[in-house]
Amino acid sequence: MPILSGRMSLLGTESAFEVLARATALQREGRSIINLGIGQPDFPTPGHIVEAGRKALADGHHGYTPANGILPLREAVVADLHRRHGVTISPDRVLVVPGGKVTMFFAIQMFGEPGAEIIYPNPGFPIYESVIRFSGATPVPMPLHESKGFSFDAEEVLGLITPRTRLIILNSPGNPTGGVVPKSELDRLVAGLERHPQVAVMSDEIYGEMLYEGTHTSLTTYPELEDRLILLDGWSKTYAMTGWRLGFGVWPASLLPHAERLAINSHSCVNAAAQYAGIAAMTGPREPAARMVASFAERRAYIVPALQALPGFRCATPGGAFYAFPNITGTGFGSRPLQSLLLEEAGVASVSGTSFGALGDGHLRFSYAASLDALKEAVARIGDWLQKQGREPSRETEARDEALLPPAA
Ligand code: PLP
Repeated sequence: MPILSGRMSLLGTESAFEVLARATALQREGRSIINLGIGQPDFPTPGHIVEAGRKALADGHHGYTPANGILPLREAVVADLHRRHGVTISPDRVLVVPGGKVTMFFAIQMFGEPGAEIIYPNPGFPIYESVIRFSGATPVPMPLHESKGFSFDAEEVLGLITPRTRLIILNSPGNPTGGVVPKSELDRLVAGLERHPQVAVMSDEIYGEMLYEGTHTSLTTYPELEDRLILLDGWSKTYAMTGWRLGFGVWPASLLPHAERLAINSHSCVNAAAQYAGIAAMTGPREPAARMVASFAERRAYIVPALQALPGFRCATPGGAFYAFPNITGTGFGSRPLQSLLLEEAGVASVSGTSFGALGDGHLRFSYAASLDALKEAVARIGDWLQKQGREPSRETEARDEALLPPAA
């Protein structure tokens, strides 16, 4: 029997993929399932981007590229950051990677080790906590508060910093909550970080173009952070390119060689054709991406009040991304049992808030990257199902008891 390293037992997972597998299995059995579990746009990649990828292959771009990405792509990235945030960044500081996740993996590996502490948003993208544990570092949750629209409190975050803190992870607009951190809170955090010059910051801005009110404040607009800020961004969400596996990080000049060495040790470089498609995405027409955001805004306007109207649900209005994260404690069900029951019995896939950290308990995540008709049907199914439970209180008690059990590993 092969003997695994102890670290393997520390690695977590992303439950959205497990929900997707179960939803797909149920569909294969002939069940009608509305999948609001997985977080990806329900639109195809815009045609001009697909065409650029196809042309790149036809033109013979089938070999390795430089490990940090082809120069025209890195130039397109910095031009795009200039357009969006007014910042001037050298393409030398950009590392193109296979998906946004890779920047997060590299940053956490770079700073995490036993004895180190890394502060991360909770509820938050589950891979942060998983990879922090894998690195041997101690994950320190940064509470996001439902009462603050799932923002953090800067003073509270600054209070979590100890001499062992190496990295703070930020994510706005956030997954799973859709919460947006107000600029005033970011200002306070950045001002406070002046007292902690040894702490690096990774800002995950993968949903930065999916904002429904106001404008996105990128951490790249704070020059005082330039020497210690890692920006995580990519094409997956903005351009409906989750399966292309294309993302980028902007690194401080001193850290980029370390990140590049991690790339050379793991994936060498990103798929060449995907990189050409990435250029077309950032330099081509912006209407397809804008149309997608307009659709998400329309769906948000439907789903938030519709969820809020369900018995036992309370739903904060998400400022960005494409997730609603209602509080479901009023239903009397625990998050994980309710996730299972809604999938198995009502045919609606969602993800339990506990999949996003302990502070997600009492919530479910619904991705509203689905058609308006599908969203309406999902809400109707949940409403019918909840109504039935009211007539069968014994089921409710059973599920509540199950919720008291420790979560499955
Ligand atoms: N960061 C956040 C907050 C996400 O929600 C996701 C994907 O769901 C990612 C990063 C990873 O994106 P990618 O699919 O490009 O690796």
